Amino acid sequence: MNWNVMRMKSSSVNYKDEYTGCYFKVFGEPQLVLKHLRGSIAIDVDDNEYIDLLGGIAVNTLGGAHAELADAIAKQARSVIHTSNFFTTTSQIELAKKLISIAEFPAGSRAFLTNSGTESLECALKIVKKYANIVSRPRILTLTNSFHGRTLGALSLTYKNKYRAPFMPLVPNVEFIEAGNVHELESVFSTKSCSEKGEVAALFMEVIQGEAGVVELPADFVLRARQLTREHGALLVVDEVQTGVGRTGSWFAFQNTGTQPDVVTVAKGLAGGFPIGAVIATDQAAEILEPGDHGTTFGGNPLAASAALKVLEVVEHDNLLERARRIYQIVADHYGKTGRKMRGKGALIAVEVQNERSSNVAKLALQFKSAGEEKCKRSVIVNAVNSSWIRIAPALNIDHELLEEGLIRLDVALKEAENEQD
Ligand code: PLP
Repeated sequence: MNWNVMRMKSSSVNYKDEYTGCYFKVFGEPQLVLKHLRGSIAIDVDDNEYIDLLGGIAVNTLGGAHAELADAIAKQARSVIHTSNFFTTTSQIELAKKLISIAEFPAGSRAFLTNSGTESLECALKIVKKYANIVSRPRILTLTNSFHGRTLGALSLTYKNKYRAPFMPLVPNVEFIEAGNVHELESVFSTKSCSEKGEVAALFMEVIQGEAGVVELPADFVLRARQLTREHGALLVVDEVQTGVGRTGSWFAFQNTGTQPDVVTVAKGLAGGFPIGAVIATDQAAEILEPGDHGTTFGGNPLAASAALKVLEVVEHDNLLERARRIYQIVADHYGKTGRKMRGKGALIAVEVQNERSSNVAKLALQFKSAGEEKCKRSVIVNAVNSSWIRIAPALNIDHELLEEGLIRLDVALKEAENEQD
């Protein structure tokens, strides 16, 4: 399929060449040039419509062009966009308090606002590194198949060798233990490191590993991780960048596990697409960072904080935690009928694809409209989270009929891709 012919019909500009001529080559070729996102309908420059089942990869919590969110951002932009860290604003204070409250962290807990997921992980890692130095325990644990971000600290905690190899050496003393393997977890805590320097300073984990293909850690592993870190005086950091802010049907995924982490990292859906991240920490973990230990120019500035506050208000007011759980039910009912495997929680779902065809599924799903199929009004946006699983992470307020229509469209793409000959 020719990208230019497909997407540039009504446009004299060759956006593909423009993009590839001016932008770093770190992402694949863009699939579409989008001009609007209205709720869960995306519209490209040629006015083709797509049912958005991906929500900007679990970011657009309220969908596109949400009137209240747009108004909150515009209102804040008209009063104050930025202040510097010599000052604060009520929105920053309110947001920090709200995050501590929805995460059900104990009294005395604190929050710090960042610009992104990877920056939240950098902040958490600085807490951990400083703690490791204070208590003379160099070992930092993270899990196989984890994804924690792309900046050098966060990358040190990220599993995929393809992402890490060109940038070695990364932060030292990070060890990967097998996700879900309780025995390995226990043995790491019971042995000393080869340098004989002793015990573990911290364990990082996603309770649902998003980039690994929406894989939930077994409940006994999560509980044992909390027990062992507590017994050994190690910090437990839970990365909720992808799962947080209602995505899995509770404010945070760890709240379904019966565990209370010391530090939680947040980003993606927090401000519904406006860049922001956050770190929530118990009093003991937060106070490890002292004045001068960390900082950020833009993190949690008034514009971002106001956007996040509005998102949290709408999630609460519109019962979007409940709606996230309903999204799972609708998808489960759909695939229950067709017998296709799926997994996940709330509105973070992976759907199995046969014959390792998931990237073809994602491409075909986008192209149906142009493939000349009569009945098809709209194509569908999903992504191939790995070769055998498609990720669905729509806006939490997606219209249920639209979701069902999207799933029907996706079925056509699934069948076609799985039946393709090599
Ligand atoms: N942590 C998790 C669990 C993520 O899923 C991601 C992004 O996908 C990150 C961290 C990095 O976030 P960002 O892309 O905002 O830097």
